[in-house]
Parts: sequence; structure tokens; C-alpha cells
Amino acid sequence: MKCTLCDNQNIELIDAKIRSIDSKDMKVYKCMNCGVHFLYPYIQRYDISNHIQWLKNKVPGGQGMYNHLFTSNFKISYENMLIEQGKSDTVFAICKISDKVGERND
Ligand SMILES: [Zn+2]
Repeated sequence: MKCTLCDNQNIELIDAKIRSIDSKDMKVYKCMNCGVHFLYPYIQRYDISNHIQWLKNKVPGGQGMYNHLFTSNFKISYENMLIEQGKSDTVFAICKISDKVGERND
């Protein structure tokens, strides 16, 4: 496993609850090199049709558009290839509410 941003392998498991993700297999890790937090296993949400749509027409909305050209096994293999290389498309942010929210300095 490596960082999705800098490819560094110095990462640590973070004790964090992920809203809207129920899978207990999903864990949050922090890269000790660049500080990015990421989920593992990685998540690939968009399929090869969507990527072709971006390459061909430079617009979104291609999810499933070329399903008639690809077998299920091919689509799964494509997505797994991206996941295994840490090149999947899903990122998330961790937001913290500052203790100083609402305080004014004037
Ligand atoms: Zn990193």
C-alpha cells in the first residue's frame, strides 16, 4: 500500500469513522510524508466508458455509455487494475471544526 498522492509507503492507520461508508473493510490511512489521508482499499467509482467519454468529448456523463462494447469481466479487470495501482478516482477530505469558530479578533 502506498500514498495516493506521493507514492510514499510510510503510512499509518488512523482511527476515524467514515460517514456514508458502512464497510468495515474500509480504513483511513495517513501518509507520513505528505499528510494526505486516504481510504484503503482504494475506491474506483467511474467506469471505462466514463473515461472514454472524457478522452473523446471532454465532458462528463459517460458512465455505462459503452457497456455494449465491454464484458463485465473486462470492466471489473479495468477497475481492479486502477485500484491495484493506487490510481483510482475517489478522494475525500477530512474537515475539522476549529475550537476558534465564532471567536472574533476585532
Ligand atoms: Zn503522500
